[in-house]
Order: sequence, then structure tokens, then C-alpha cells
Amino acid sequence: MGPAVSRPRIRFLSTGGTLGMLPGSPGPLAPSSVAANVLAYVQGIERELDVSVESLWNLDSSDLSPAHWDALAQAVAARMDGVEGIVVVHGTDTMAWTASALSLALRGLAKPVVFTGAQRPIASVRTDAPENVVNAALCAAMDIPEVSLYFGRYLFRGNRSTKTSIQSYEAFESPDCPPLVEMGVEVRPIKTPLRPAGPLRLELGFDSRVAIVPVVPGAGPAMLEAAVERGMRGVVVQGFGAGNVPQEGWPGALAAAVGAGVAVVVHSHCHRGKVDLRAYVGGRAALAAGVMSSGTMTLECATVKLMHGLARAQGEELRAYYTGDVAGEGA
Ligand code: ASP
Repeated sequence: MGPAVSRPRIRFLSTGGTLGMLPGSPGPLAPSSVAANVLAYVQGIERELDVSVESLWNLDSSDLSPAHWDALAQAVAARMDGVEGIVVVHGTDTMAWTASALSLALRGLAKPVVFTGAQRPIASVRTDAPENVVNAALCAAMDIPEVSLYFGRYLFRGNRSTKTSIQSYEAFESPDCPPLVEMGVEVRPIKTPLRPAGPLRLELGFDSRVAIVPVVPGAGPAMLEAAVERGMRGVVVQGFGAGNVPQEGWPGALAAAVGAGVAVVVHSHCHRGKVDLRAYVGGRAALAAGVMSSGTMTLECATVKLMHGLARAQGEELRAYYTGDVAGEGA
């Protein structure tokens, strides 16, 4: 008999989502006891990995809030010793939001934290869940010390990922950021992972008083003004293309919002490319009003980072935080 080969220890933290749901009869998909037993549905994983599961919550991810982000970050940090990596099982709807939040809250990560989920329940005959679970666990055993997201063949940087399809098994993409790894016939590393400097430290806290306001042709800035009136401390404005806003009404409303102490970020309706507020007069007017640019961040990360920044800084300090790089998020 040869020497015992030690298998990487991977801890699953289950938070809910479709993966562990069952259909009611009659009724919608709803959280079920399957969530706490996901490993019963994947064959042979224990031959390569020493896996264990813990259920933190069993919720549709639409019901998660920043308080859950903080609690999850704390749970991950508390379980880092004694494992090689962590897999977070999470609903797909807000997975990119939570992954963005954890990438900002968990600093100096030395081990992988991999989010995954599924489009169909793991207890269904035809499901994408086992493949996602197995590959996420294998990715969690790799030397990729960042918050990532495994779905439909690829491991993505968590804070660069976005859910782009309601039905496809390839539900996520990371626009403007190549995947970290492709799990095809071969395991193909694509992008060099982050190498955060340790030790692990928690930066908890997100301010929920943030709104997303899309610019609509001809509609004017009434929704922005309403957000300011209703006490929002930050607003992400989705402009057109490179980050343009109409010249009628918007520059004045943006300046008024900034003057009232609201942190305003200009993002884009587009999903790819970098916001460039100098490219057109509409963007320059926004810039002159004192807004910040979202760079190449996803809408999810641009918003979560604003929430995180507002909980710890204001004015120039907030601007420096928001426009600086924290975890490869594309600021
Ligand atoms: N509504 C589900 C959730 O986000 C969707 C899913 O998991 O795919 O929890």
C-alpha cells in the first residue's frame, strides 16, 4: 500500500438558491431540505476532495441583503483555517452582487472562495448543478486566492461577473475580464489570479441608501432628484454609451445632487467597454458636475462598491477609494 494521499479540504457554505430548491405541488420553486445535502447528489467527489457542507441560510438570493453579505464574509473568514478553499452555494439572481461584496470585504485572501449555483435544482434529473458543484470544488482546491464564481464551464473573477441569461446553463459572463480558468476536457488556466497581500482582514459594512437611476431618452432627471429627496446617499446613473447624459436638465441635476452631498457615479447602459466621461459633451458635463466614473466595473460591482465606500468614507476619501483598485474590480 502506498502512502496516504491527503485530499484538499473544501468547505461548502450553503446559502440557498435554485440548486437546493424543489417545486411545490402546485407552486413555485422554493427552498427545501435538499440544500443541506447537496453532496448526496454528486458522485465520486470524495475521491479527490475532502468535502463538508454547512448550511448558513436557505433563501432565494433575492431575499439576501447587505447584512447577509457581512455575515457570510465573517463565516468565510472564521472557517479559513483548516481548509484549502471554500465554496459558497448561492442563488444565481444576486450571486454577482454577493461575490462583489465579499471581494471588497475579505482583504488579504490567501485561499479561494468560489461561488456557484445552478439554473435547475440538483434533485432534478436534468440539471446543471452537479457539474457546477464538482468544478467549483475543484477550483476551490487550486491556487487562486480570490473571490471567484464558477458557472457553466468557466471560473470568473467574482466582482467582474454578471448574470446574463435567465435560461441558459451558461448564465454568467465577465465582460472585459477574461475568465480565470476554463474547465473543459482539460483544465485551462486563462487569467493570472490576484495575489493579495495578507493577512486576512475583514472590511465589513455596506450603506444601503443607494439607488440606480437609468437615463431614459426624453425623461429628464426627475428620478435622480427623487432619489436625492428620499435620502439616498449614493446614486449610480446609467448613462448612454461612454457615460453620456442628455444636456437638457441632467448637468444641473447632477451638480445639485453632488452639492447636496450625494456620491454620484456615472455608469453605462452598455455591458462592455470602459466608461469615458471625456469622450462626449454629455459625459464632460457630468464630469464637471462632480460625478465619478464606474470604469469597467459591472453595474453590480459599481453599486456594491459605492455602498461599501459610503459606509467608510466621504468626499475626497470616498472618491479615492471608489476610483482606486481594491480587488481587480475594474475601477
Ligand atoms: N431565484 C433563484 C435565486 O437566486 C435563482 C437561482 O438560484 O438560479 O435564489
